[in-house]
Amino acid sequence: MTMSRTIARRPTRQVMVGHVAVGGGAPVVVQSMTNTDTADVTGTVIQIYDLWQAGSELVRLTVNTEEAARGVVAVREKLDAMGCNVPLIGDFHFNGHRLVKAVPECVQALAKLRINPGNVGRGAKKDEQFATLVEAAARYGKAVRIGVNWGSLDQELLARMMDENAQRAEPHEPEQVMRNALIVSALESAARAVELGLPSNRIILSCKLSGVQDLVEVYRDLALRSDYALHLGLTEAGMGSKGIVASTAALAILLQEGIGDTIRVSLTPKPGESRTTEVQVAQEILQTVGLRSFTPLVTACPGCGRTTSTVFQELAQKIQNWLRAQMPVWRGQYPGVASMNVAVMGCVVNGPGESKHANVGISLPGTGEVPVAPVYVDGKKTVTLKGDQIAEEFQAIVEDYVKRTYGNSGE
Ligand code: SF4
Repeated sequence: MTMSRTIARRPTRQVMVGHVAVGGGAPVVVQSMTNTDTADVTGTVIQIYDLWQAGSELVRLTVNTEEAARGVVAVREKLDAMGCNVPLIGDFHFNGHRLVKAVPECVQALAKLRINPGNVGRGAKKDEQFATLVEAAARYGKAVRIGVNWGSLDQELLARMMDENAQRAEPHEPEQVMRNALIVSALESAARAVELGLPSNRIILSCKLSGVQDLVEVYRDLALRSDYALHLGLTEAGMGSKGIVASTAALAILLQEGIGDTIRVSLTPKPGESRTTEVQVAQEILQTVGLRSFTPLVTACPGCGRTTSTVFQELAQKIQNWLRAQMPVWRGQYPGVASMNVAVMGCVVNGPGESKHANVGISLPGTGEVPVAPVYVDGKKTVTLKGDQIAEEFQAIVEDYVKRTYGNSGE
């Protein structure tokens, strides 16, 4: 069986975002963000429903115009009518103070408001506009994420901190001052929100950067300096494998250290690619580091010169897709099935060994081997498959295992 270790989580205040608990020992929550125009209610509902079906436990959407703010209300109503109760988070910048006054129903329809302290206004207006947003959240009992981003860092705060640094006998590097300014922006904004009447157990913090080492350093420091629940994410991670690898590298380090209560993987979709990829990647990060289980994982060897056919690649892909497709039904029917491990291996070198470590494993024949495929269940060889129907027969074995092991009859 797969070996696992428990990761000690950093204690944080728990925040309820709608019905979803974030922090305070709750499982790390997966969230995502739409890329539709929120004023396009139908398009936004379809995307949110897809993200929710893929496993997104919170979904954020842009609120940038009055039409979008009114769209949020309609989106919430339609989702409720479809039986989709995923909490919605409104992303406000620049004009949020005006929108929450003009369309207060929008705040009521949301579970959380994301406020970027660097984008709420300048000079004297900044405090007033920040207060308007926070007071709206407080009035309707909503949570707030104080979401600082290095691309929109509060320039007045940064200038003040740079000046203070210049007065020091031994000034810090500007990069260090900038990283500290992100944290100070989040903590000072949180303190101000509490002064304005928002309970501290309704505040989540984030300080996003696009560099892995910078992000790790900032979050380590932020975690030491507060017990607020933390939203983790590498901003502007990028497209394809670059975005996935960068996000995984950053988030895995922090999650391993017990830091992070909710995560978002900010991937730029390729043209035509589903937005749900970011949900799948977030789930796979959490499952791979051993924090949560979402879908049975398929362990597959990379293949090499010992297996020249594509049979085992096709089988591994087919089994993984099939397992993922079963999960919406299996999740309720077979509790615990998400932690199942299935191995699909290419030849006799590591095939039998790896298959024995899985719940169910198959070792396919490599080039020159006798064309038979031994199957292992809970570490014991149970049957040897051969012929054209290996894939179908193996799938039936896995299905039977799931019913016996995770169904009522198996309890
Ligand atoms: S298990 Fe066999 S086919 Fe797969 S990578 Fe190892 S040696 Fe190659």
